Amino acid sequence: MRFSRLRLTGFKSFVDPTELVINAGLTGVVGPNGCGKSNLLEALRWVMGENRPTAMRGGGMEDVIFAGASTRPARNFAEVALTIDNGDRLAPAGFNDADQLEIVRRITRDVGSAYKANAKDVRARDVQMLFADASTGAHSPALVRQGQISELINAKPKARRRILEEAAGISGLYQRRHEAELK
Ligand code: ATP
Ligand code: MG
Repeated sequence: MRFSRLRLTGFKSFVDPTELVINAGLTGVVGPNGCGKSNLLEALRWVMGENRPTAMRGGGMEDVIFAGASTRPARNFAEVALTIDNGDRLAPAGFNDADQLEIVRRITRDVGSAYKANAKDVRARDVQMLFADASTGAHSPALVRQGQISELINAKPKARRRILEEAAGISGLYQRRHEAELK
């Protein structure tokens, strides 16, 4: 699975529809302070199922919706679409019906979040599991936030173990075991 496109609408500072093509190899995002580089990484994390407002540098989940500017009114929804190249057909059952897989998350004020996979409604958990099993996702150590390196150095052993588990590709199993224990 390879990310090939990221589309944002009304997400944080990306008020107008913005599309980024992600080619194979290394992609760099450069720009002045405050232009939205970190917001892009947060969009990626969010569409993969992030549900902690703090991870999105906000107080509540609706803070990802464009909040308005002196010249533009606030929006009522935010949407992020992530296109995944599934040409190798390695996506799990239920997500594996085409060479392209598009995951869309939309949040509407006072309504909450809804997810779609190739235009079909899916649950948040399905999307989170899809990415966790692919060793990526909202909590992936592959997504390094600004300031996270120093947090990692100061982390307790248990938190560090979770990062190793994610890197080893067993975090999906870990999540399922946790859910089984709760039942
Ligand atoms: P730096 O180089 O300093 O790390 P950056 O390119 O990573 O900067 P971001 O942190 O991604 O910049 O973007 C910050 C900008 O996004 C700020 O101008 C902030 O006002 C804007 N922003 C964040 N959330 C929203 C929102 N909900 N609505 C409108 N604008 C927002
Ligand atoms: Mg930044």
